[in-house]
Amino acid sequence: MIPYGRQDITQDDINAVVDVLKSDFVTQGPVVPKFEQAVADYCGSNYAVAMNSATSVLHLACLALGLSKGDWLWTTPITFVASANCGLYCGARVDFVDIDSQTYNMCPKALEAKLIKAKAEGRLPKIVVPVHFSGQSCDMAAIHKLSQQYNFKLIEDASHAIGGKYCGEAIGCSRYSDITVFSFHPVKIITTAEGGMAVTNDKDLTDRMSLLRSHGVTRDLSRMTGKSDGPWYYQQIELGFNYRITEIQAALGLSQLQRLDDYVRRRHELAERYNTLLSKLPIIVPWQSPNSYSAMHLYVIRLNLDKINTTHRAVFETLRQMGIGVNLHYIPIHTQPYYQAMGFEQGDFPEAERYYNEAISLPIFPTMTEQQQDQVVSALEKSMCK
Ligand SMILES: *Cc1c(COP(=O)(O)O)cnc(C)c1O
Repeated sequence: MIPYGRQDITQDDINAVVDVLKSDFVTQGPVVPKFEQAVADYCGSNYAVAMNSATSVLHLACLALGLSKGDWLWTTPITFVASANCGLYCGARVDFVDIDSQTYNMCPKALEAKLIKAKAEGRLPKIVVPVHFSGQSCDMAAIHKLSQQYNFKLIEDASHAIGGKYCGEAIGCSRYSDITVFSFHPVKIITTAEGGMAVTNDKDLTDRMSLLRSHGVTRDLSRMTGKSDGPWYYQQIELGFNYRITEIQAALGLSQLQRLDDYVRRRHELAERYNTLLSKLPIIVPWQSPNSYSAMHLYVIRLNLDKINTTHRAVFETLRQMGIGVNLHYIPIHTQPYYQAMGFEQGDFPEAERYYNEAISLPIFPTMTEQQQDQVVSALEKSMCK
């Protein structure tokens, strides 16, 4: 089976991990801050906080921004469930903004329309989470402008998008949002096995996320109430979690980061080659905004169902049977049973649902060969002329 995505682990990565295993610290040592600094520098942001997953980062980003019961968090229905669940973890309510039909990202026009309505009803969101779907940035200039107008906070879910650019600057540059979140799951652009990171220009948010990442416990005298009892002393000043990443993972991430630009370049080569090879088929290839340099995490095609004699499901099944590990990113979150139980219904976000009925993610990963790609293309051709 040719997978839709997979990690690339080199001898350098293995050496970096082995070095940590032989060192004094396998967790809470010097490599985590080094990894954080390297990602912050790469993005051109001041601060970074690494954690054991992007899901953890999303949770603490929401808490650091003060999300709580009675508040609203809005995101897109076409994302992994974690982008929405982070709001529920904080006791907030979650709602969605439909997608743009070309980029499949949160549509700024739909966002504005929903904000106008929410303002009239007195239920404006506290946080909006735009997701840079497939690695292509959302229209952050427009969304940022709305955040100032309607006074909400912004968390960019850039789980797909490290290594991408928007208007010439790295995604994660912190120009348009409060916090940007990256994931280092093995299918993503670079990996730490499990892991994630927040980048931000805000020192206060950095301190809050760092505190919550490790039980809400501090050894910093300036943050304690009263005086220290002695050199052993620490204080718990908030209810935090254990969301720490290990030294082993950070070493892997730091080593992977050296190849980030090469990975994204290779993904672009493969995407351009797909664009050419697929140009005669009745499908829509991923549209790219001129403002954006995508990290190209996913290569999503949409079937033109009017022009083929088979169904979306049949094409998908045939591809799987032929050893092509296609996938579907994503099942619209509002159609999940857990969200339907909160009152969402089929038909609530029609653009997202239309997308779901036509989309297929084709395999794309940096070590994919052209022969493998040809195999995917030929299987796709066969699957559609049934
Ligand atoms: C992968 C992913 C996450 C969750 O990342 P983990 O590191 O696995 O917790 C969140 N949002 C999006 C859009 C993702 O693709």
